[in-house]
Amino acid sequence: MSKRIVLLGAPGSGKGTQGQMLMERRGIPQISTGDLLRAAVAAGSDLGLKAKAAMDAGELVADEVVIGMIRERLNEADTANGYILDGFPRTRAQAEALDGLLVDLGKPLDRVVHLDVDEEEIVKRLLERGRSDDTEDTIRNRMKVFRDQTHPLLEYYSERGLLVTVKGSGDLEAIYGSIVAALDA
Ligand code: AMP
Repeated sequence: MSKRIVLLGAPGSGKGTQGQMLMERRGIPQISTGDLLRAAVAAGSDLGLKAKAAMDAGELVADEVVIGMIRERLNEADTANGYILDGFPRTRAQAEALDGLLVDLGKPLDRVVHLDVDEEEIVKRLLERGRSDDTEDTIRNRMKVFRDQTHPLLEYYSERGLLVTVKGSGDLEAIYGSIVAALDA
């Protein structure tokens, strides 16, 4: 059974929703860099102030900032039995840093699940979600950032034999079932 899991997908592909279902049903924490960053912004911390402009523009926050957050989070006790990374890594530098961290911890990733949803559907979903960074311009930019920087990670993980792709459109429970089947295969 896979325990150390990355959910990879475009913004609006359902990583957050499916990550939460996995957390509730499998009892392992969901770690979302987007949630951690939004909490830092809300708290008005230095890190939050640094991150806010990039987030509002749909750009990525600097690698060293998110890598630092993940390093701290993966050292917490509740990750001992596994975790679901949601929204991290998003760049090759982040993926390589994660590999390094996991070598140090002696616990490699088990699976990377790619939630595959077509772009039209994603734009529609995000406009319905209506988060403050869900305006049409920001959405287009986030999609571009995904294509340019995050999509190449599919090859990175495929080469390492970790990647499974799951169709991310349709019924939530059916998608969840496909993810669990891929994790337990
Ligand atoms: P999300 O909630 O995953 O859609 O993330 C919201 C925003 O937070 C993104 O558009 C980025 O600005 C920032 N963010 C989240 N995760 C990362 C990451 N791994 N690397 C860089 N920026 C990130």
